[in-house]
Amino acid sequence: MSATEVRIRPRTARPSTPPPGPAGRHRVPRLHPYAARVLTELSARVPWEAEFLQAVEEVFESVSVVLEQSPHYETERVLERIVEPERVIAFRVVWTDDAHRINVHRGYRVQFNSALGPYKGGTRFHASVTLDSLKFLGFEQTFKNALTGLPLGGGKGGADLPARGLSEDELMRFCQSYMTELYRHIGPDTDVPAGDVGVGTREIGHLFGQYKRLTRTFNGSLTGKAAEWGGSRLRPEATGYGVAYFLQEVLRSRGESLDGLTVAVSGFGNVAWGAAKKMTEMGGRVVTLSGPDGFVHDPAGVSGEKIDYMLTMRHSGRDAVKDYADRFGVDFHPGRRPWVVPCDVALPCAIQNELDTPDAEALLANGCRYVVEGANMPTTRGALRVLREGGLVFVPGKAANAGGVAISGLEMAQNRACETWPAERIDASLQAIMTSIHEICTGAAERYGRSGDYVLGANIGGFVRVAEAMIDQGAV
Ligand code: GLU
Repeated sequence: MSATEVRIRPRTARPSTPPPGPAGRHRVPRLHPYAARVLTELSARVPWEAEFLQAVEEVFESVSVVLEQSPHYETERVLERIVEPERVIAFRVVWTDDAHRINVHRGYRVQFNSALGPYKGGTRFHASVTLDSLKFLGFEQTFKNALTGLPLGGGKGGADLPARGLSEDELMRFCQSYMTELYRHIGPDTDVPAGDVGVGTREIGHLFGQYKRLTRTFNGSLTGKAAEWGGSRLRPEATGYGVAYFLQEVLRSRGESLDGLTVAVSGFGNVAWGAAKKMTEMGGRVVTLSGPDGFVHDPAGVSGEKIDYMLTMRHSGRDAVKDYADRFGVDFHPGRRPWVVPCDVALPCAIQNELDTPDAEALLANGCRYVVEGANMPTTRGALRVLREGGLVFVPGKAANAGGVAISGLEMAQNRACETWPAERIDASLQAIMTSIHEICTGAAERYGRSGDYVLGANIGGFVRVAEAMIDQGAV
């Protein structure tokens, strides 16, 4: 199929009657007056933190129905407390490149909430990293981690480093410099960082090496370690596999299966890789991948050696998917996103706000029935409204992509016990955790009369667990 043959309908062509969705249409709930007041105060205090405010508003909308029935949250000032990170660490990261030039970057760790356990969350090395983006990610992480049912608080860190394009040596020096500041703030009982965009097993290795050198301890202060020296089996696959398992639960609850469904995936990193691998195994056909340079359309499906090639692309240091098109002779659409390709399931797995209102309209117009967030908050507010009101099933990242941090939780447990669990045990636990998150979401949505609303269910399920723990632990 050539570039022009992709059945792309005009981005504004919204059908007068959207296709009937299995979920029913979900009106975006109105804010409870208490939530509205706290959000107004927060917006006045940090008006420049657009992504953080976006994440807070979405959670506040969902929990408004809870606030109506549980006035004690207002008396306890839970919302005021829950939007305030417990601690923010900001530091300078200086390193010398291969040409002996000195480079300066900004490093952060946002220790958001420890009501349920030590701060836990990834480390992102990406040009887009700011305190704002890490606050939104730490906030989301808090509720995601709560949904796993494991004893994990929420945190996030990173640096504004365009990691791709650095040599191996440069990357190692950068990681060492980052850890030279961070090491004093983390620990197995305090804060346990992991990987995220731009940080995989290789970077965790360099970070861990420096941590060990500075502290003279070999412990579980980081997760995402290589399986041969303290990591967990299946950790690299866990986020993507978890997305596939969650989707399977959603489909099962509607009497469907992945078999024969067409899936549009964005990104080509860790989440996209794991999801493509597992969904293909389950009979789905992944027809797109994307990068900052555009998207590839592979109607025959990304399977077999093509999935392995995703890893090669990731390790090449080139932030581009065009190589895939060149290698496998499929179409490449420069500068475009994959949401114009007809699909049953859309899986945004790249970065925040990568799916906007026209994209959402194109998905609906093309008959897409499920949007499952593999990335954290990849859907803009406008797109979310269109998708929820348009009647397709929408699953937010904090539910769908919780599998990664869940297996990090199991890595912490293995480190504490000095054990290495077999892959089968990890996989069974991952499936059980994703099934349980699905039950929490559907149960909470049903309880509040919004059956099938996964946004509401995930936010309420995560929020109530964190809020109750905060109240139990007093005004701290
Ligand atoms: N970065 C992943 C996430 O967004 C994993 C975090 C972790 O394993 O701590 O959930």
